[in-house]
Amino acid sequence: MSKIAFVGLGNMGGPMAANLVKAGHEVHVFDLSEAALQHAVEAGAVAAPSAVEAAEGVEYLITMLPAGKHVESVLVKQDALLDKVSKECLAIDCSTIDADTARRLGAAAEARGIQFVDAPVSGGIAAAAAGTLAFMVGGSEAGFSRAKPVLECMGKNIFHAGDAGAGQLAKACNNMLLAIHMAGTVEALNMGINNGLDPKVLSEIMLNSSGRNWSLEVYNPVPGVQENSAASRGYEGGFMTDLMCKDLGLAMDASQTSGSPVPMGSAARGLFNLHQAHGNGKLDFSSLLKLYQKGE
Ligand code: NAD
Repeated sequence: MSKIAFVGLGNMGGPMAANLVKAGHEVHVFDLSEAALQHAVEAGAVAAPSAVEAAEGVEYLITMLPAGKHVESVLVKQDALLDKVSKECLAIDCSTIDADTARRLGAAAEARGIQFVDAPVSGGIAAAAAGTLAFMVGGSEAGFSRAKPVLECMGKNIFHAGDAGAGQLAKACNNMLLAIHMAGTVEALNMGINNGLDPKVLSEIMLNSSGRNWSLEVYNPVPGVQENSAASRGYEGGFMTDLMCKDLGLAMDASQTSGSPVPMGSAARGLFNLHQAHGNGKLDFSSLLKLYQKGE
């Protein structure tokens, strides 16, 4: 059993902290939202009055915050937790942020003699609750080895992507590819429907042909084709368009800093941004189909 601080108890962080409690760890939590803090206490965590107090004497410090500026604020600016934890503490940032900030935080931790890994997740709210997230970890081999047993309490697949920032880069590559194959799947299915094909039959054909891909396999964007898809629930829940737009912005940053051409990623970003601007930010990202449908 370890003493762990967990800062950021939102849609993802709340259930992740609850799984650490379930695994027998002593979890000290903090969030700016009183309601989020209360939920975590109900799950067995210990509420702290501030991030600084949550981090007192802990072996692990985990952050799960909206964006890079929040993580910087907690780790090196306002709360400056990296100045307050002991040298034996491992800092694990599970938020999805830009790789440059993750590298800067890795360097800031190293300068203080503290190990830091970036460990963004794939899987969404359901996987966070079920403890089946995938973690993409950036940092030293030693940092990865220390993080792994803790991450295993919250996830199923734990990958070491490379040095600091590599976890964020892997996440940006993955989500850019996800956006591209979802947009392609939407486009192909919509063309089939407009030409009189039954989307169920067309999906089955493409699933058994060379168009097969993850979006078609487990995330069909047409309502009624798959019983448990977000599309069949009115695009409620799932992975919000707002978050996909955020992740595509991070992918564009990664393409710029490395001079990598991403014409397909840019096109996908344009489509999702347009869909978001039409007021669909809170809908699941597979609702992109609406952008293509006649009369929309
Ligand atoms: P969320 O907005 O639900 O939760 C963020 C929490 O951080 C909030 O409760 C907020 O009060 C808290 N917070 C913000 N600043 C703080 C501070 N300074 N101190 C303490 N608490 C603070 O977000 P989420 O959906 O849980 O996502 C968290 C991260 O995980 C994001 O980076 C997101 O991109 C990523 N992510 C989300 C999903 C998803 O499906 N929701 C999937 C994969 C990755």
